[in-house]
Amino acid sequence: MLDKVKNDLVDNLNKLRTKSWHTTPLGDPRGYIRPQSLTELWFHTGTACNLACPFCLEGSKPGDTRLDRITLEDVKPLVVEAVELGVKQFSFTGGEPFIVKQMVKILDHCLQYKPCMVLTNGTEPVLKRLKQIATLKDAPHDVSFRISIDYPDAKRHDAGRGENSFEQAWQGLSELHKLGFNVSLARQMETDEDKQAVDNQYRDLCQQYGLPDDLTIVAFPDFALPGSMPDVPFVTENCMTQYQNELTRMEFMCAFSKMVIKKNGDMRVYSCTLVDDDEAYDQGSTLAESLIEPVSMKHHRCYSCFAYGASCSET
Ligand code: SF4
Repeated sequence: MLDKVKNDLVDNLNKLRTKSWHTTPLGDPRGYIRPQSLTELWFHTGTACNLACPFCLEGSKPGDTRLDRITLEDVKPLVVEAVELGVKQFSFTGGEPFIVKQMVKILDHCLQYKPCMVLTNGTEPVLKRLKQIATLKDAPHDVSFRISIDYPDAKRHDAGRGENSFEQAWQGLSELHKLGFNVSLARQMETDEDKQAVDNQYRDLCQQYGLPDDLTIVAFPDFALPGSMPDVPFVTENCMTQYQNELTRMEFMCAFSKMVIKKNGDMRVYSCTLVDDDEAYDQGSTLAESLIEPVSMKHHRCYSCFAYGASCSET
């Protein structure tokens, strides 16, 4: 009897999940993206970070274990499969990738096959390992670094990331540039901001720190904390056909990339870098199987992709 109740409950939950995957609570068909290729493969290096920013979309902080730290052995089989599938770049995000012990070895391994990009906070873990990172210049492919500098104002940046982190991040950016690596910058986007004026403030700072003033600056909207349920409009199939077309739908990250996370010891493939807090986006343990099913735009962050064209990618 108890087993029957349990099975019925699991059945109902699955039905509910399937229904909510395809249909909004208002009964409209949800928007979706059909995976087209695997151009970029992201690895989540784990949610541990040296900083504890209250706004972190990953909820990362020192010692955090929501997602496990990756190792070279975890990465190797996925690199082989990704190369077979025609991947063009490996990208890494965290947490802070450079607190992962084997990070430089992992990069060195991936760079034997394809170019890489690393998202980092550019602070102590990077500054401490500059010598080691410099060795990656000898690899057959290039590695680039994107450092987060939230605001062009030190006090405001440090209020979120911790004292002196503004100065350290600029130092990290400038040291990596001096070593000959390509660098770019990620900042926060504010509603109704004057984009040009904000970017110009960053350009002035770039000059001050000896960086090229045409540095790529990527602005991100607020993605909200992991597991949160912000009240955003549902993205319906109608939205995706009326306001998007076949070409623009192919620019959504889930059309051309995947992200691998390590959870409870297993490497799992998720639809993109923005949805690792919802198991409905777990698409299996191999890249090939993850490319089969269309990706529903059920997650609240899908609205940011729809409304702002938010993309972590530079490919
Ligand atoms: S958040 Fe991810 S799954 Fe949703 S639309 Fe954007 S890229 Fe696709």
